[in-house]
Amino acid sequence: MGRLVMKFGGTSVANIERIRNVARHVKREVDAGHEVAVVVSAMSGKTNELVAWCTEASPMHDAREYDAVVASGEQVTSGLLAIVLQGMGIQARSWQGWQIPIKTSDAHASARIEDIDGTEIITRFKERKEVAVIAGFQGVNPATNRITTLGRGGSDTSAVAVAAALRADRCDIYTDVDGVYTTDPRVVPKARRLDKIAFEDMLELASLGAKVLQVRSVELGTVHNMPIFVRSSFDKPEDIDPHGTPPGTLICSEEEIMEMHVVTGIAFSKDEAQISVRQVEDKPGVAAAIFGPLADANINVDMIVQNVSEDGKTTDLTFTVPATDYNRAKETITSAKARIGYARLDTATDVAKVSVIGSGMRSHAGVAAKAFKALSERNINIRAITTSEIKFSVLIDAAYTELAVRTLHTLYGLDQA
Ligand code: ADP
Ligand code: ASP
Ligand code: MG
Repeated sequence: MGRLVMKFGGTSVANIERIRNVARHVKREVDAGHEVAVVVSAMSGKTNELVAWCTEASPMHDAREYDAVVASGEQVTSGLLAIVLQGMGIQARSWQGWQIPIKTSDAHASARIEDIDGTEIITRFKERKEVAVIAGFQGVNPATNRITTLGRGGSDTSAVAVAAALRADRCDIYTDVDGVYTTDPRVVPKARRLDKIAFEDMLELASLGAKVLQVRSVELGTVHNMPIFVRSSFDKPEDIDPHGTPPGTLICSEEEIMEMHVVTGIAFSKDEAQISVRQVEDKPGVAAAIFGPLADANINVDMIVQNVSEDGKTTDLTFTVPATDYNRAKETITSAKARIGYARLDTATDVAKVSVIGSGMRSHAGVAAKAFKALSERNINIRAITTSEIKFSVLIDAAYTELAVRTLHTLYGLDQA
């Protein structure tokens, strides 16, 4: 007998019929003798609707009230799944974040889980064989007793944190694809499913745009060495052998992976904006004058490139910021104009960052150089580049995203046979 956390995303609980399907997956594991905690997301589209209502009510709304509103989506699905399970003769009880409690920081809308008390849930596993149905995405700040949420996609993080707190054997993430692919399979049909991926590579894939798992969930998996298994909720529940190996991707430590490739996968993100500060005097202190105010405004700068301006005397500084911070970043630089001293600002929001990831890059030279050549042969202009030990990213025009991803996918031998 084992202990399992099963997480179901928005499309998997999109309506009552799908919730019944989820319940059959849960039943299979309960019948196999497992102790089960389920973590659910809101019905697909629900959180977007709730967010839009907050913005419509007031564009500058109070984050505490935003959390009160957006946490409600998961309250509905956790109650509904408990009702359906009970109807199937399975002992089940729903739990909101504050009831467990899942204690978090007070950073409303992007809170971090600090502690989960799993005692009561474990007692109920033992005494009543009761399934815990937990609302994902939400928690409570103990100092204020107010509901918090964990940032978009946060139910993945709830699931891995609950799995660690309950000392589960595995955390299964059921979603609308049957695993983690070499790139988004909806964009590149030739993408290949990975049987296993190392925590480190998954962390990069997730932080660079693959939204299959929230970044924080992978961090928690790494810290607690919790095996995470990404699989499809659309496979017929009764066709799956609870003791077998279903299709899916195991996220695990590097030592468990036999075959390491130089490149593991490709991620992309259109959530960045580019700002170029033109004709800045090339002298010490200029970078500090630009990036200091941005840091003070809590704006994360990602890629940075410096090159000679068209006049040959001054310098241009180009950098990227998250698209959501674009307006604030522009204002910050404009108001620091006197201190920085520049001729003009050029900006672009129709840009995309394409990233190539692989821990095998550590021991291979020239991996990025190959990409630059392949992209230039496709006439794709690179606006900025960043590299680290196990990944590199290029900033390009958004219109070329798919072409660039496909080109690189083929280049690194990732296409399905
Ligand atoms: P859920 O609602 O179950 O949390 P998400 O929509 O958050 O599901 O994440 C699943 C989606 O992630 C898939 O439908 C797929 O389009 C996207 N995705 C992006 N990159 C990848 C990848 N490398 N492998 C698998 N899915 C990916
Ligand atoms: N419902 C939340 C969202 O859409 C959390 C999640 O689905 O993981 O962001
Ligand atoms: Mg998700």
